[in-house]
Amino acid sequence: MEIAHESIASDGTRKFLVKLDDGRFVESVLIIHKRTICACLSSQVGCAMKCAFCATGKMGFTRNLTSDEIIGQFDLMSGHGKITNVVFMGMGEPLHNYQNVVDAVNILRKRGLSWQKITVSTVGIPDKIRALGKDTQCKLALSLHAPNDELRQKIVPLNAKYPIADVFAACKDYPLRKKNELMIEYVLIDGVNDSPENAKELGILLKQVPFVVVNLIPYNPVTGIAFSRPQKEKCEAFKQALIDAGFKTIIRTTKGIDSNAACGMLSVSKEKQIINVS
Ligand code: SF4
Repeated sequence: MEIAHESIASDGTRKFLVKLDDGRFVESVLIIHKRTICACLSSQVGCAMKCAFCATGKMGFTRNLTSDEIIGQFDLMSGHGKITNVVFMGMGEPLHNYQNVVDAVNILRKRGLSWQKITVSTVGIPDKIRALGKDTQCKLALSLHAPNDELRQKIVPLNAKYPIADVFAACKDYPLRKKNELMIEYVLIDGVNDSPENAKELGILLKQVPFVVVNLIPYNPVTGIAFSRPQKEKCEAFKQALIDAGFKTIIRTTKGIDSNAACGMLSVSKEKQIINVS
């Protein structure tokens, strides 16, 4: 595998188009902060989950990555500095490729990353969440994006199979504790899930799970998806409502937006799946 193309956003975030040995492509992102370098790894070519806001979801699912291909992304990006953190938040649903992701996590551990530095993100597959809690001690992130099943089903179709109550029951079985909280990811989409009522309902819902922190992610525009980002004031009000409800809440700084490297923006066009772009 090799880097076929690299783009650098104005904030220093680097996005890599990685060509796999079978000619398929995935994207990997290196997010550079003052003291940390975080690698965002893909686990699948495309994704079967079809989340409404997500560029990868629009691609459909092609195949799982092997553990070597997952670690290969880490190795290819390592030339840009010592990677201190890894998040499985790139293309694909990591728990839909469970064994390869766990194998890759174990390799990262052998490379010296502590459990605290490895985060696996999921839209919520209950039996795999439980398995992950037994097989590893990774940090867990849940892509929730809505405070009730009716709304979540419109944003995260998998919710029809695994409603919030089932996913939360699995999260409660995960070894969560202080310093290993469940990260709730919530993409704020203008007029869809960002109202004061949504924030209030979310604050009540989250009381069901211990050790929760909330990451609000103002929606990153994607060509061909008719969602938009809420005004800053609306995001701030949503955050404040959750803080008032007792939750540690941050608005995630959007890194890499001008190179489409931000959350939900990773995609590889069909043409690139068959054309060597290097
Ligand atoms: S948000 Fe994640 S799980 Fe959902 S479609 Fe995109 S890559 Fe797949």
